[in-house]
Amino acid sequence: MLTDEELERYSRQIMLFGEGGQERLKGATVFIAGAGGLGCPVSLYLAVAGIGNLRIADKDAVEKTNLNRQVLHWEKDIGKEKVGSVEEKLRMINPHINVQSFHLTIDESNIMELVDDADLIVDAMDNYEVRYLLNKIAHEKNIPLVHGAIRGFDGQAMTIIPGKSACFNCVFPCEPPSETFPVVGVTPGIIAMIQANEVLKYLLGKGRLLTDRLMIWDGLNSEMEYMRVSKRQECRICGNGDAGHG
Ligand SMILES: [Zn+2]
Repeated sequence: MLTDEELERYSRQIMLFGEGGQERLKGATVFIAGAGGLGCPVSLYLAVAGIGNLRIADKDAVEKTNLNRQVLHWEKDIGKEKVGSVEEKLRMINPHINVQSFHLTIDESNIMELVDDADLIVDAMDNYEVRYLLNKIAHEKNIPLVHGAIRGFDGQAMTIIPGKSACFNCVFPCEPPSETFPVVGVTPGIIAMIQANEVLKYLLGKGRLLTDRLMIWDGLNSEMEYMRVSKRQECRICGNGDAGHG
C-alpha cells in the first residue's frame, strides 16, 4: 500500500498509470549490474520513479576520470566504492525505497544470489564478459534483461524476454575486444533513460518493448535507428546450438 507521502510524491505519474501501477513499481525488485556511466542515471531515475527495491553491484572505486559521465559520483567521492556512493545519493533523493549495494566483481559464484528474486535485470556494464553472464542467467532464471551499451557519441539498447525474444547472444555471438573507449556523458545519459523507460513499461505492462529490435543511437546525427533482430536457432543460450559465446 502507498502512504500519503508516496501518493503526493508520485501524484504526477499516478495520473498516468494509477495507484495500482505505482504499487507494482513499489513491489518490484530490479537488479542493476554496474554503478558507472549507465548505472548512475538508470538507478537515479528508477529511484525517483519509486521502484521499491534496487539492488546494485559494481567492483570499482570512484576515479576522477569517471566524473564526466557518472553523475551520482561527485568530487568528494573519489576513492570510495561506487556502490556506496550511489546508495548514499539514492537514499537522499528517495527515502521511500530500499537500496542494496554489493561491492564485488559479478561472476558465476555470486550472480544467482544477486538476481535472486529480481523482476528485471539491467545491463549497465562496460564489458562483454559480464554481459554474456547476465544473458545466460536471465535465460536460466527467466528474468527479463534490459541491455545498454555506449561508445563515444553512439549507443544501443535492447530488451530481452527470455524464451520469447532474441537474446544477447543471438545478436552478439562474438565478443568484441575490450578497450578503454572514449565517451561523453550525454551518451550514457540517453541510453540509460531508454533502459529506465523499458523497465517502467515492463513492470507496468504498458506499451511496446524494445524486443527483437536493437535500438541504435547516433548522437552526432541525432538519429535513432532500429535493427530488426530475431532468435537464432543455433544460439548457445536460447537455441539448441553451440554457436557463439557462453
Ligand atoms: Zn539467443
